[in-house]
Amino acid sequence: MRILVTAALPYANGYIHLGHLAGAYLPADIYVRYQRLKKRDVLFLCGSDEHGVAITVTAEKEKITPQAVIDRYHPASQKVFADFGMSFDNYSRTSIPLHHETAQDFFKEFHKQAILKEKREKQLYCEKDRMFLADRYVEGVCPNCKHPQARGDQCENCGTWLNQVDLIDPKCKICGTTPVVKETNHWYFPLGKYQKRLEEYIAERSERDGWKENVLRYCESWFKKGLEDRAVTRDLSWGVQVPVSGYEHKVIYVWFDAVLGYISSGKEWAQKAGRKDAWEDYWLRKDTKYVAFIGKDNIVFHCIVFPAMLMAWNDTGRSQYVLPENVPANEFLNFEGQKFSKSRGWGIDVADFLKYFPADTLRYTLAVNLPESRDSDFYLKDFQARTNNELADILGNFVNRTFAFIERNFESSVPPKGSLNALDKEMCEVLKQAPGTVGGLIERYRFREATLEAMNVARFANKYFNDSEPWKTLKSDRDRCGTAIHLCVQVVRSLAILMEPLVPFTANRIWSMLNERGTIRDAGWESAAELSLPDGHKLGKPEILVNKIEDKQIEDVVHFLEHGKDGPPPTKSANVKPFIPIEDFKKIDLRLGKVISAERVPKSDKLLKLQVEIGSERKQIIAGIAQHYSADQMVGKMVVVVANLQPAKLMGQESQGMLLAASDSDGKLSVVTVDSELASGSAVK
Ligand SMILES: [Zn+2]
Ligand SMILES: [Zn+2]
Repeated sequence: MRILVTAALPYANGYIHLGHLAGAYLPADIYVRYQRLKKRDVLFLCGSDEHGVAITVTAEKEKITPQAVIDRYHPASQKVFADFGMSFDNYSRTSIPLHHETAQDFFKEFHKQAILKEKREKQLYCEKDRMFLADRYVEGVCPNCKHPQARGDQCENCGTWLNQVDLIDPKCKICGTTPVVKETNHWYFPLGKYQKRLEEYIAERSERDGWKENVLRYCESWFKKGLEDRAVTRDLSWGVQVPVSGYEHKVIYVWFDAVLGYISSGKEWAQKAGRKDAWEDYWLRKDTKYVAFIGKDNIVFHCIVFPAMLMAWNDTGRSQYVLPENVPANEFLNFEGQKFSKSRGWGIDVADFLKYFPADTLRYTLAVNLPESRDSDFYLKDFQARTNNELADILGNFVNRTFAFIERNFESSVPPKGSLNALDKEMCEVLKQAPGTVGGLIERYRFREATLEAMNVARFANKYFNDSEPWKTLKSDRDRCGTAIHLCVQVVRSLAILMEPLVPFTANRIWSMLNERGTIRDAGWESAAELSLPDGHKLGKPEILVNKIEDKQIEDVVHFLEHGKDGPPPTKSANVKPFIPIEDFKKIDLRLGKVISAERVPKSDKLLKLQVEIGSERKQIIAGIAQHYSADQMVGKMVVVVANLQPAKLMGQESQGMLLAASDSDGKLSVVTVDSELASGSAVK
């Protein structure tokens, strides 16, 4: 069986945030990594969606080209996905010529077969900007709900798809003037013609592969309204040019070209691999299982529009594309109880989040909170608790205590396994069941439960460690102790496999700590049920697996959320004093001084009396360093002196300055000096 997996093409008009990951990307990656461990033939495709009006609107707002907009967001998305551990086989972009050709090929074929219908229709036209106002280029009052800022294609308030000439009091988004109504020709795809086949297709696949309730309900509501013709061309200049003569000044509507981006990503993957036709093995074979991961805002395009396009293509007989076997769309993730919103600036970009925390901690908390059947929430406090109480205290703790015990008592090699008692057998049984249980949930797209089940294995293993009491049997029955520890290290190995789809970075670190040959993928998913580490196997060096998240780290993120990227930096520790202007700092005259002589101040165990040469001057300084430096140690030292400090008396002695020293929270003290020879009196700044 071949498996083709796609994850929604992110729109190259903004940065990837946590909501995106929870909607499509993390579930897709867990699924793909699992399938690869099952040693199945998988191709995982994605890429940036780079056409559409939102991009040209951004370009106009920033007075840059649309190309500059996508050249900002495409590489940013690519990098953040890599940092998050997304294991795409190819991450493409729809601005490449290969994609334009693919989209044009579909359009030309549909045109040739007379599938597309041409319609003359009324559109809003701005005489000042001399252009038709497609979609977001026009705003007005929604005829349905009276929302004052409905877009030309859709009202975001009530969700209705609009015909722009129905807008009340429309205004050009570029210049603000009232547009006129003008006629123009557009091509339409007859979606309604495919409704019956689409309903059958969804019923059949849903029966076979268990489609999610939320997806089915959504499709039903579309079918109930009845599918209508959809325009496939736009009066714009940014996009895929319409490949029909007389239409060169129009582009293909972005919804039509974007879904075909999955196919061109496959073609690009094949080209890069040097096997130009290899993409056909996935896209054009009946025995491919195609799973399309998306967020709920994309359901209509992936369950209705894209399959209808592929049906239309397949009807031409040129080739037979595989249709999605399942479209496991997730609902939305909220952040701290509110919807992610670019316009309100609410939420956090993944790139920013990963500056604070490792990817696996984010992957784990998102996995247990995936909005699989309803909207869910991401709370920073929950993130901290999941990381500390589960990843660190359950998984990390079990791995680390096992390694520590073997290092201390068995010279870092796996002790031999003796006969098994009831407790041991129970542990073995848990391992035997785990790949089937966790894997079964992943196959049914139930990633939350799969994550909990995988963590339950680690939870059980901790209990097994405790109940076996190896620290007691170490003295009384070394074979018994060895057997329990032998099983523990086998469980560590199994956990690396079971956790790889969820927390790949951590899993691979466990694998190298185990000093295992090959990769986790070489071992394979089923191997998690085995006790395959041989007696005497030498382990690698243990390291702390998961660092706990301190309150301060969470406070830093909250600070970032409140102040944004351009806000003041968070204070690094509670003791840092408020900012001062540079002018204040410049008032302090810091000079390099050379200690000429030093002696204890009588009756004081803290003070030294120093004579310090500062250029041609000499100052007496009383310093509280006698518990850290002897008088002899100080003589000849170069020190940094506050030369213009108001003189003061200490223990009856005049002090004409102060020398700088660092001290840590344990009370250790070290005087500040310079690391190369400089004349005394030199300014320090
Ligand atoms: Zn409305
Ligand atoms: Zn205008």
